[in-house]
Amino acid sequence: MTTEELRQATSPQWCSPPVLVAGWGRFPVCEARLCANEDLGLVTPHGSLSRGLGRSYGDAALPAKRGDALTSTVLADRLLSFDPETGILRAEAGCPLWRIIELFLPRGWFPPVTPGTKFVTLGGMVAADVHGKMHHSQGTFGQHVTSVLLEVADGRRIECSPEHETELFDATLGGMGLTGHILEVAFRMQRIPSPWILEEVETFPNVPALLSALHQAGQHWPFTVAWADLLNPPPLFGRGALMKGRWALPHEAPSRLPQPPKSMKLPAVFPNWFLQPWMIRWFNRVYFYRAQRVRGRRVVDPESFFYPLDAVLDWNRVYGPRGFTQYQCVLPAEQGLEAHQRLLDRLLELQAPVFLAVIKDCGQEGRGILSFPRPGISYALDMPLSNRTQQIVDDLNDIVVKGGGRIYLAKDALTRPEHFRSMEPRLERFLTVRRKWDPTLRFRSALSARLFGDDP
Ligand SMILES: Cc1cc2nc3c(=O)[nH]c(=O)nc-3n(C[C@H](O)[C@H](O)[C@H](O)COP(=O)(O)OP(=O)(O)OC[C@H]3O[C@@H](n4cnc5c(N)ncnc54)[C@H](O)[C@@H]3O)c2cc1C
Repeated sequence: MTTEELRQATSPQWCSPPVLVAGWGRFPVCEARLCANEDLGLVTPHGSLSRGLGRSYGDAALPAKRGDALTSTVLADRLLSFDPETGILRAEAGCPLWRIIELFLPRGWFPPVTPGTKFVTLGGMVAADVHGKMHHSQGTFGQHVTSVLLEVADGRRIECSPEHETELFDATLGGMGLTGHILEVAFRMQRIPSPWILEEVETFPNVPALLSALHQAGQHWPFTVAWADLLNPPPLFGRGALMKGRWALPHEAPSRLPQPPKSMKLPAVFPNWFLQPWMIRWFNRVYFYRAQRVRGRRVVDPESFFYPLDAVLDWNRVYGPRGFTQYQCVLPAEQGLEAHQRLLDRLLELQAPVFLAVIKDCGQEGRGILSFPRPGISYALDMPLSNRTQQIVDDLNDIVVKGGGRIYLAKDALTRPEHFRSMEPRLERFLTVRRKWDPTLRFRSALSARLFGDDP
């Protein structure tokens, strides 16, 4: 028996019968078989799309064809090495971010970039080239990745990095799993002065004031994010809060470690009718008053600062079986306030049910060919699905195309291919690299079928 055969014979593997899977937005829903193995490279059938913890909102981690297999990476979750001299951590692609934080925060390290949830895998972070409240200061996650071990369509394992097989590396950052299976990821962790965050909160009466403060804050604070009420009618429409943060210095921080936060779990999927706009209007008022109350500086634990939504596990169930979408776009900095005003006016005209609006400042574009962020302002808008949602997304995409912006594939479920092509001059380059490594397009997803025209 060869070593390879021995590994195959002893490596536990499971494949589920067809089950219904969806992204975090619970739309669309698709039948798939999930196959997993502790050794990602051994999962059969070979060449099926990878899926991490399913925290992308739309159809990025769904099969192109109903019933197809997905490679679930969650069993391949080992930490492989850590060098405290360089801060480089190497781990299997299914390793969840929460585990890295649990192990490293008490030891004075933190990932340089984190999205708004810790329930993601390293593979998912690379494939979406995630960004966070630190994009203006630290860029995307991919900017801190030193190498990726990738299994490509013909079964070869390729180590790619900023120095080696660079084209493949650049297509894999933000390539939504379409260049191959990411088996291992190495990236540079960041040293932190204490395990606490110093946060400052301010409130503003409208979006222009919020945007100007967000931009100013980015020059002094490594972490910034804004929340805006885009649901209540004027004059409340657009007022919001700006949260700024940095790691607390040792003399500013409590001497104890932050307690692991308590989280609650929604017990069941709520009925579609449960969440009504009037409830969220009230929630937004309360949230704004609360922000006014806590204005100023305080020391907070990093989990409540970076992951406020993780306090309620499975919170997406509140939207009911119909689900919701998160529309996320970035409008270029050079467009000025006009494009923003068009977007806001359109939301008002359409009376779009924006239940949550998060605004972020994006810094320099990274190297990922299809990575989302570019200098400008990003809007992430959560909306329950209804028969009006497609029209709202189409209208917003018209504005984004005209404004030279783009949308984020990790959140998208409804963008039309013609809109995507108009906003993505980088698409041809991505497709060329993809075809070079995967001429028969073995790695396909519902998203690539919808937006790139892959045969399902
Ligand atoms: C509450 C919440 C907040 C969020 N906040 C942010 C944010 O602030 N910034 C941000 O950028 N994103 C954010 N996201 C989105 C999330 O970070 C990304 O969608 C991320 O990719 C999810 O990781 P995952 O492991 O769940 O991947 P999945 O959702 O399972 O997969 C996402 C994509 O990655 C591919 N993929 C996964 N693993 C591999 C692998 N091993 N090899 C190849 N391809 C792979 C899949 O094929 C798919 O295309 C948020 C999501 C939620 C639910």
